[in-house]
Amino acid sequence: MVFNCRQCGTCCMYMGDYIEIEHQISEFEFECSSVSTGTPFLARVDADKREIFRDKTWSEEHSTPCRFLRPDGNLIRCTIHETSPPQCKYYRCVVMRVYDPAGTLLGMVTGNLSLHSDNLELRQCWQEAERKISHLDADAEVRFCRMLESKGYRVE
Ligand code: SF4
Ligand code: SF4
Repeated sequence: MVFNCRQCGTCCMYMGDYIEIEHQISEFEFECSSVSTGTPFLARVDADKREIFRDKTWSEEHSTPCRFLRPDGNLIRCTIHETSPPQCKYYRCVVMRVYDPAGTLLGMVTGNLSLHSDNLELRQCWQEAERKISHLDADAEVRFCRMLESKGYRVE
């Protein structure tokens, strides 16, 4: 399923301790490390985000977000998208939204294929599918989706 990041910034709001700036090389270049994986990376502010990166007002007012996060109109954007670590680039907060036939949203599935729902019936249906589908299967996402649709749920 195609994931469209809405650039809301929510997933980066508590990443300040996880993306560490170790050394500033120039105005827009930094030696960094991704704390969770211990991986060093060179961060370069994207050419089209340098203006918003320069304005540190929001960043100074908020202590928890990643240091590369900046507001941009209605969006909150990563200013180093081109050089950000792979786990950032490929992060998908929601890969499926699950609705009942009437169109009521019942739950959401995150990129690691975890269901978040208060609906007992849907949760049981998901657990039943988890007994048959391994999260590691290359086609797991498609199979979970098909299984939900076969039970009458609408998936987007
Ligand atoms: S991955 Fe999700 S939470 Fe993170 S910025 Fe995109 S839409 Fe927002
Ligand atoms: S590098 Fe970008 S995507 Fe990763 S946590 Fe920081 S702002 Fe978010």
